[in-house]
Amino acid sequence: MSTRSILIAGNWKMNMGPNDTADFFEQLDAESQKQIDGVIAAVCPPFVSLATAFDSRKSASAVKIGAQNVHFEDNGAFTGEISTSMLTEVGCDYVILGHSERREYFGEDDAIINKKVKKALLAGITPIVCVGEVLDERKQNRHFDVVKTQTAGSLEGLSASELEKVVIAYEPVWAIGTGETASPEQAQEMHAFIRDELAKLFGKEAADTVLILYGGSMKPANAGELLQKPDVDGGLIGGASLKPADFAKLVAIA
Ligand code: PGA
Repeated sequence: MSTRSILIAGNWKMNMGPNDTADFFEQLDAESQKQIDGVIAAVCPPFVSLATAFDSRKSASAVKIGAQNVHFEDNGAFTGEISTSMLTEVGCDYVILGHSERREYFGEDDAIINKKVKKALLAGITPIVCVGEVLDERKQNRHFDVVKTQTAGSLEGLSASELEKVVIAYEPVWAIGTGETASPEQAQEMHAFIRDELAKLFGKEAADTVLILYGGSMKPANAGELLQKPDVDGGLIGGASLKPADFAKLVAIA
């Protein structure tokens, strides 16, 4: 039996401005905002809604707050970017890095993600590092290779103790926002594979402590069977995390 906790993290993407964020916490009942033993709930709003999220949550110990991206430079002439020190200043616990949408639309590769992971760790922010294959790669049976390369590349140069502070999210791109979910067996197979790769790179002890989340159309209706799998330590949830009632259900299921 694993001693790892469960993390339910909402990835709000480019949704939920400050007003919607305040409404979300208003509607998320107080019960769901109490800390449950062994379960961590987190939401990752857009940058402009972070301050509202911190002001609106009912208890600091319950719902953790994260960002969806960060730059790897400290400060300076990087128009439009946000630094780790800015995220620490507002109080962020997490930052999502290497999401497939960042990889696809903003040209982020494993080398860039690796720099960001290291910067987040230095700042004491937990990176949620996303990996996952596209449909063609799975059809060609290359999904394990793709995920192995992304995992090793994103985490290159980390020590075992640094790895323990990283969260991985396996998000098959074909399951993101499509309503199609990986089966619990497909998820478990890939999560176990990732943990095995981590053990080879960083040692079994560190690999066993790392939370590996599943992401891709996770919702209250399918979360239970996914979360029952031994290597599925939570979820990174897009669409279903936008509604307070669904988010609360996911936390309760975990
Ligand atoms: P989804 O998104 O739950 O809407 O599929 C998950 C993600 O992209 O993190």
